[in-house]
Amino acid sequence: MTKGFVLAIHGGAGVLPRAEMSPEREAACHAALARVLAAGETVLARDGTALDAVTVAVETLENEPLFNAGRGAVFTRDGTHEMDAAIMDGRGRRAGAVAGIAGVRNPVHLARAVMERTDHVLMVGDGALEIARDAGLAFEDDAYFFTQDRWDSLQSTLKMQADGTLDDDPARRHGTVGAVALDRAGNLAAATSTGGMTAKRRGRIGDSPIIGAGTFADDATCAVSATGDGEAYIRLSVAHEIDARMRLAGQPMTEAARQIILNDLTAIGGSGGLICIDRAGAVAMPFNCEGMYRGCVKDGDKPVTAIY
Ligand code: ASP
Repeated sequence: MTKGFVLAIHGGAGVLPRAEMSPEREAACHAALARVLAAGETVLARDGTALDAVTVAVETLENEPLFNAGRGAVFTRDGTHEMDAAIMDGRGRRAGAVAGIAGVRNPVHLARAVMERTDHVLMVGDGALEIARDAGLAFEDDAYFFTQDRWDSLQSTLKMQADGTLDDDPARRHGTVGAVALDRAGNLAAATSTGGMTAKRRGRIGDSPIIGAGTFADDATCAVSATGDGEAYIRLSVAHEIDARMRLAGQPMTEAARQIILNDLTAIGGSGGLICIDRAGAVAMPFNCEGMYRGCVKDGDKPVTAIY
């Protein structure tokens, strides 16, 4: 039986406060999210897989300098880039992920290559880059990954650190991109990609590439992609917690996702959000901060994008 498809995407929970958001930038963000939805929708409308749809959606987000992943990745405190990405196929819980990598144009493709070309799930360093080369993935130089906004954020963060005035403004620190999809065959998939947190230490790894923290998919329950304070998401095993509450406690996904973000994440001082889809096609996109770049399209419906 053919069921309808659903695709949800996010461009991170680190949105600019309304007061600082220009109408031009707001329009550019909505337009970028709409392009991403269209790219993923094209795959799903041709009876493509959820796995292919989240790959294309995240690739498109990574190529978009407005969001913190791929081309628009934030800088470490040393002025370098270290990116994390993961992908999970709800059919049989296959997964692939990379952490702390630089130079690969689309980290989500490398995560997928880890899943499809190795027996491993999470890879770092030269071993990960070797897979990218073997798979013929595109590499880019530092200039490609340089964006003035991200550089300015690093400088202001370093200055605030030096002055002892560092706040925890999510707009300056956060960002990540992700996608979750349900295809017409009833399969779920999730993918997440990030530059991490502005001014992070070299070697710091967030929740995005950790299966069960920032990324998760199982056809029996749901697909999840998270964005926010990575350390908090790892400590709460956020994505897996939603799956577990559905499987073991019979809780509806929407309720589980809301509780984890609004209660549990808030209780340990974390900020952020997530997007998730369950096997029946329900979508939830809770966040506990000012906003989250996000969008959703359902089979036969008009796409919707939102920021606040
Ligand atoms: N979760 C990402 C990380 O901790 C950052 C973010 O989504 O804001 O690396």
